[in-house]
Amino acid sequence: MRLLERGKRANVTAVGEAVTAELQFCFPIVRGRYLGWISRAVTLSLWAEVCNLAENSTFDLAVIGGGPGGYVAAIRAGQLGLKTAIIEKDDKFGGTCLHWGCIPTKALLFNTEVYDTVKNAREFGITIKGFTLDWEAVQTRKNKIVKKLAQGVEYLLKKNRVEMIRGFGKLAGPGQIQVTVGNAPGRELSANNIMLATGSEAKMLPGLKPDARTILTNKEVLSLKKIPKSMVIIGAGAVGVEFASIFHRLGTQVTILEMLPRIVPLEDEEVSAELEKSFRKQGIEIFTQARVEKTTKNPKGISVEHSGPDGKPGRLDAETLLVAVGRSPNTQGIGLGSSRVQLERGFVKVNGNMQTDEPGVYAIGDIVAGSPLLAHVGHMEGIIAVTHAAGQPVEPINYLHVPNCTYCEPEVSSVGMTERQAREAGFKVRVGKFPFSANSKAAILGSREGFVKIVSDGQYGEILGVHMIGTRVTEMIAEAVVAMRLEATAQDLAHAIHPHPTLTEAVLEAAHAAVDEAIHI
Ligand SMILES: Cc1cc2nc3c(=O)[nH]c(=O)nc-3n(C[C@H](O)[C@H](O)[C@H](O)COP(=O)(O)OP(=O)(O)OC[C@H]3O[C@@H](n4cnc5c(N)ncnc54)[C@H](O)[C@@H]3O)c2cc1C
Repeated sequence: MRLLERGKRANVTAVGEAVTAELQFCFPIVRGRYLGWISRAVTLSLWAEVCNLAENSTFDLAVIGGGPGGYVAAIRAGQLGLKTAIIEKDDKFGGTCLHWGCIPTKALLFNTEVYDTVKNAREFGITIKGFTLDWEAVQTRKNKIVKKLAQGVEYLLKKNRVEMIRGFGKLAGPGQIQVTVGNAPGRELSANNIMLATGSEAKMLPGLKPDARTILTNKEVLSLKKIPKSMVIIGAGAVGVEFASIFHRLGTQVTILEMLPRIVPLEDEEVSAELEKSFRKQGIEIFTQARVEKTTKNPKGISVEHSGPDGKPGRLDAETLLVAVGRSPNTQGIGLGSSRVQLERGFVKVNGNMQTDEPGVYAIGDIVAGSPLLAHVGHMEGIIAVTHAAGQPVEPINYLHVPNCTYCEPEVSSVGMTERQAREAGFKVRVGKFPFSANSKAAILGSREGFVKIVSDGQYGEILGVHMIGTRVTEMIAEAVVAMRLEATAQDLAHAIHPHPTLTEAVLEAAHAAVDEAIHI
């Protein structure tokens, strides 16, 4: 640091002298004692400028990455009175979630839900003639929502006095960050605490490269100029099945290829089976235990050769291919090599306070090893890291209490252990299940698919996991999260009065089923 100061001092003096010499050259009248004064004044004002810059470039916390993890952390840091900077390489704050994930996909999903309702209006006694879907208007609505929310993020950062810095940030030594914009020389920042929140990118299959029309990831698919006639989706995790619902409802012929034996493979097995049954009924084609062998682009789109569990070959021709096979952490090129930060398959290892092995460096969000890649997890990890950096006590996240939501149709949500996981963990499991076909609100909404399933400990009744599939279940899972956080039993839930008629009564009935008998079945 002292060397840096000395370097700056030498440069400033040299610049001061050069400016004075230039003045002397242009105005030969500037001579003698005036020259000395001018030289000193120029040097002093330049030095003041540099000191000011250095002062402005020293922070309590500098966050690299302005996604939901990073910006929430920066806002909280501002609220706690920390002098905070946030560095973002893209022109907008909000990250994957706001620009390429949670928000635009859910905006499209809602549009297609409305479209679907209009198509089925007759069921509700309404006849609608001659309606069409205006894809451009759908895209405009989605973009407007994203833009408004992005403006909201910047407003909140400003309001909390967070300095927003555009550029690519990387660690440049203990407490140091270098920020570059293109090839321009970098700005150096000093920070007592640094938070890595650089997020993730879509994984690609070897040999495939996304383009704007045929081979797509979650990014390109959001800006398609027209609705494709057909789409093969590789991967049946949350991203794959959400896009399957969007495009199926838009009229695209959708086929899913999943390498594992079931779709939404992280969910409870009964939920996977129910979703697969529903998708097949809707007309979405599904191949599980399917291996992609070869893809070939052609003038009409793409052909995908695959093989089944018995090695039997198959071939699918489609206008578009969506690759949804997971995410890779953005941990390359950010200066981790010369730090003590430890990686695990590219993801950053942290402790319960979100601290890495490099003193003063935290990591949060999608780049964290073993943490679910979800915006609400990034939010909470950011808050924990900042609270710790501010010297306040923190409670580490219990990752068993993280809700998972998949916004396909029917929706899927869950928290805690699946039935299989609970049994494998040695619990004497007791399951309570209630179908939406017996729920009055589901009948009113005309969506009777799915169920609520509660996995509880047979000995003490503690709720170990809750699994839901059906309409609006992503709005219902928070109740289960709170119940599990408070170590509630199935009995507790069964005694909590739920309003009638609501979909949440299915939770109450599932709890009744877990302790005794459900009433309405
Ligand atoms: C299609 C899709 C749908 C999703 N839907 C949901 C959902 O409904 N609910 C949910 O909870 N999650 C959802 N997710 C996941 C969610 O988007 C991520 O978990 C979340 O965005 C991760 O937040 P993050 O802050 O860790 O990283 P990101 O959101 O990826 O943000 C990282 C930011 O850092 C910036 N950056 C990277 N490197 C640098 C650098 N060196 N210097 C400066 N800036 C840098 C990036 O430009 C980016 O803005 C979805 C994801 C996808 C792909």
